[in-house]
Amino acid sequence: MLFTRVLAVALALIAAAARANDPLPALGADPHAVTVSGVSSGGYMAVQFNVAHSSVVTGAGVLAAGPYYCAQGSVVTAYFNCMTPGTWTPLPGIEQLRAQTEVLARARSIDPTDNLAAARVWLFSGTGDRTVDPSVVDALRGFYARYGVPTAIVARRRLNAKDHPRNSAALAAGLAKDGVDVRLGVEPTAVEAGAGPAGAHVVRLSDGSAVTGHEILLAVGRVAPLDGLGLETIGVALHDGRVRPDDQLRVAEDVFVAGDAAGPEMHTHLAHYQGEMVARIALGDDVRPDFRAVPRATYTDPETAGVGMTGEEARRAGLDAFEESIDLATSAKGYVADAGGHCTVVVDRGSRTIVGAFIAGPGASEAIHLAVLAVKIRTPLAVLADTITAFPTTSRVLGTAFTAALATLGR
Ligand SMILES: Cc1cc2nc3c(=O)[nH]c(=O)nc-3n(C[C@H](O)[C@H](O)[C@H](O)COP(=O)(O)OP(=O)(O)OC[C@H]3O[C@@H](n4cnc5c(N)ncnc54)[C@H](O)[C@@H]3O)c2cc1C
Repeated sequence: MLFTRVLAVALALIAAAARANDPLPALGADPHAVTVSGVSSGGYMAVQFNVAHSSVVTGAGVLAAGPYYCAQGSVVTAYFNCMTPGTWTPLPGIEQLRAQTEVLARARSIDPTDNLAAARVWLFSGTGDRTVDPSVVDALRGFYARYGVPTAIVARRRLNAKDHPRNSAALAAGLAKDGVDVRLGVEPTAVEAGAGPAGAHVVRLSDGSAVTGHEILLAVGRVAPLDGLGLETIGVALHDGRVRPDDQLRVAEDVFVAGDAAGPEMHTHLAHYQGEMVARIALGDDVRPDFRAVPRATYTDPETAGVGMTGEEARRAGLDAFEESIDLATSAKGYVADAGGHCTVVVDRGSRTIVGAFIAGPGASEAIHLAVLAVKIRTPLAVLADTITAFPTTSRVLGTAFTAALATLGR
């Protein structure tokens, strides 16, 4: 019996050896399009593999993992700094990791890092992930960005010109830090197709300088086109292609508008809000939409967010308004996240409430909601300044702005 089993195993091994010599079946894989993906520790492995073998691995899909060489050979660093960084266990600086990566590349221990400019990289993080903090994935994005394709942004005025000037400045600084060539206050005057090095297009600018690139992205804005839909047949009047809703979003008898076509701004959350309003109004509720506290968020690095009016807009609206601003870089949150930015509040001296708030920095799109509610229900500044916010968060820096504004206003 035992002999039979041994024989069977031996025969199986011989058969396996024979199969090992057989040519592998054609899988139809393109050897020039190999990417590697992974989750968590597998994500770290995918990054290591991509960076180390960038001449053959042309991209990486990474979920919940951080930059190359993060652990630097230490299990403790891997477990704390590279998963849930904190005040005493910060993520290693990206420049430091990049310098170490260059040392390895120069020693030919890994492939030349020039290849990374062409890498296709997909990064994912869960905002509620407590095992691998989303800031770890942000750092990975920064790591890859430093090897990125040279990018230039040309803007006539400032970036995101409708946002608060401090948000625009923080965004320009963040992009410049990531190596983006930001040209402000100029506009393109001509494009010379394929006239640059290696067939790049040359874009001539109004100040006499030029930028080059193989791809040109033109941001022209968007409108909700209503012409030609036949809306006049149901009694809807268009003015320059737009509707003029009344204070209940009504555009004709029993006809309502919601979303981008309604204005005053274009956001998904505003479309939802208006949709719900319209349904209630149509069913007979005596309600009216309130657009004073519409949150705005831009999901860049750093994130920017805002609500209500800037100081200038408030003064133009006849309010006796001033702004109070706190530099995020000098706050505990700025230190922990190695981030710059600001929290600014706009105070109406008359009502002693805030009529606007603007944030650039980590989690700005979440932190703004404290101010959204305050603008909406006209919370007294004294109450806002007396509200406890968790340390160290961006919300807390906003709380500091409330306290500083109350000091300026006088108790
Ligand atoms: C690239 C991009 C990124 C964005 N990111 C954000 C974001 O992060 N956060 C945010 O708040 N907002 C964002 N927005 C804005 C947001 O998408 C819009 O404000 C929101 O979708 C508006 O909702 P809506 O219902 O008015 O229009 P839509 O969502 O555009 O819906 C209109 C629908 O009507 C259909 N349609 C058009 N014409 C006709 C026709 N003749 N007949 C039948 N159907 C038609 C369209 O196909 C579409 O499905 C983004 C917009 C863009 C373009």
